[in-house]
Amino acid sequence: MIETAENIYETTFIKTLDNPKLGFRTTDVRTFDKFYKHFTGRSVPGPMPDLTLDARVDWGRWIVDCPYCHGAMAAFDTDPSYFFCRKCKNNGTYKPIKVEFPQERSEVEVLLGNRPKANQNWRRGETLEFLERENAERGM
Ligand SMILES: [Zn+2]
Repeated sequence: MIETAENIYETTFIKTLDNPKLGFRTTDVRTFDKFYKHFTGRSVPGPMPDLTLDARVDWGRWIVDCPYCHGAMAAFDTDPSYFFCRKCKNNGTYKPIKVEFPQERSEVEVLLGNRPKANQNWRRGETLEFLERENAERGM
């Protein structure tokens, strides 16, 4: 299974940030809206109109690279999906950026599924044939 923000944040940093003073419960973080409000204290403003970012797979996780600070965040499996960089707040604009998963997402996930986590990597431009060839070369 290729993980997304909902799962990753719930199982790792959300749990480490679990803080009753903030009224925070791990099960509350199910959507991008809740994540955004938790980290900014604001409602989600409209997204940046002219920018879309690609989700890519890195070590078995769908992630999105920040176009401003070169950080990355796990991708939210919401429709539509948005990116918000906790570090630079999307260059201080606080405006989320739309995220696109590939059309062949499910095929990519199947082809990466049996690999060790370290080898579950994919980015736009890598074809399904390329992943199949890699799998075949490694006897998967
Ligand atoms: Zn950033």
